[in-house]
Amino acid sequence: MTATLTRPLAPAVPVSRGAIGGTAPITGPVVPAGDEACDYEYSYDDLFTERLRAAGQSVTHLQTPLPPEYVTMTPDELDARIWAAKEKLGDRLMVLGHHYQRDEVIKFADVRGDSFKLSQLAAERKQADYLVFCGVHFMAESADILSGDHQQVILPNMAAGCSMADMASIDDVVDCWEQLTELLGPDHGIVPVTYMNSAAALKAFCGRHGGIVCTSSNAAAVLKWALERGKRVLFFPDQHLGRNTALSMGYSIDDTALWAPNKELGGNTEDHLRDSTFILWRGHCSVHGRFRPEQIKAAREKYPDVTVVVHPECPREVVDLADLNGSTEYIIKVVTEAPAGTTWAIGTEINLVNRLQKELPDKTIFCLDPVICPCSTMYRIHPAYIAWALDNLVEGTVVNQIKVDPEVARWALIALERMLAVK
Ligand code: SF4
Repeated sequence: MTATLTRPLAPAVPVSRGAIGGTAPITGPVVPAGDEACDYEYSYDDLFTERLRAAGQSVTHLQTPLPPEYVTMTPDELDARIWAAKEKLGDRLMVLGHHYQRDEVIKFADVRGDSFKLSQLAAERKQADYLVFCGVHFMAESADILSGDHQQVILPNMAAGCSMADMASIDDVVDCWEQLTELLGPDHGIVPVTYMNSAAALKAFCGRHGGIVCTSSNAAAVLKWALERGKRVLFFPDQHLGRNTALSMGYSIDDTALWAPNKELGGNTEDHLRDSTFILWRGHCSVHGRFRPEQIKAAREKYPDVTVVVHPECPREVVDLADLNGSTEYIIKVVTEAPAGTTWAIGTEINLVNRLQKELPDKTIFCLDPVICPCSTMYRIHPAYIAWALDNLVEGTVVNQIKVDPEVARWALIALERMLAVK
């Protein structure tokens, strides 16, 4: 990335820079933070939370600025710092890397995986006191919920949230629940189901109300579980995963309603809500929501023998046209196990697709969207933040700890354990 700023930022809003970094403007090499619109690059100063927010970026958690020394280090210097800190911390440290992280970050990961797999791996590594999660906020929360009391979860950049998770706030979900209860009565038979990609507060909501968590691997089994216990499902935050899964189970689009937060009855008629088996929250992933049927048609024209595999967070029309769809782990497995010489068009995050391309040179692998952006919030985990977090751990200071409120964690764990019991 270069220092080019191709879209003007709104004027900076003064923010407190806390104890770290002082208040003087920091100049130095560019530290890329994200690329929401693919025509947008950041200077270091743009990393400050208020600047990101002013630029229309999703930022729900505040990150204190880095000390200037980390901003001016070269990539090689940052790498050396990180490797040295890892060596000093040894088994006390576990670095978890989500598949969507760029190579400059994933190379430091002790384990790679999707969000749920990483949380499980973290919980199993009991000797690790520090779990440095190179992912996004909700993933670090899940790791905290599933890990032991002696383990501390660290998110190198607090501004690494998830735009999808942010689309369902606990207040909006409670409001929806109250409206539905008023309409359908206390015997409404709604089972709340939240996707793994949601705040801990929503997982706790599900735990409290007889609901459950799902991942993109087990969504159908979880929805079946829910409908064995109730009459209908309230599914959040990803409408696409909910809709694609309901259709794959044999339900029709008429069995679904789309709930728009901040609208009376979510924008639905009373009759439609009464008749719906699935009430889907109007949220989406900013990465997977970009894939289009035209991209699949173009891939098939260029490579008639191509196999198209997409993530179920993609829109329905895309999933319908694809040959296969499944979770990130499924996509990795199916492409890795495919015979040499096969051609794959993949509808998921670009860092993962590029890595598959590199690691499987005997196959032709490309991303369905030729101009796709990386996950802009995941991208906020830069090696400079990792170096800063690890250096602090070496000194015995824990920065950026993600600690879920114990009561929230208790109920969220109940919803997660229900999921783990689903076969
Ligand atoms: S890829 Fe989508 S769902 Fe995953 S962290 Fe990024 S915005 Fe959230």
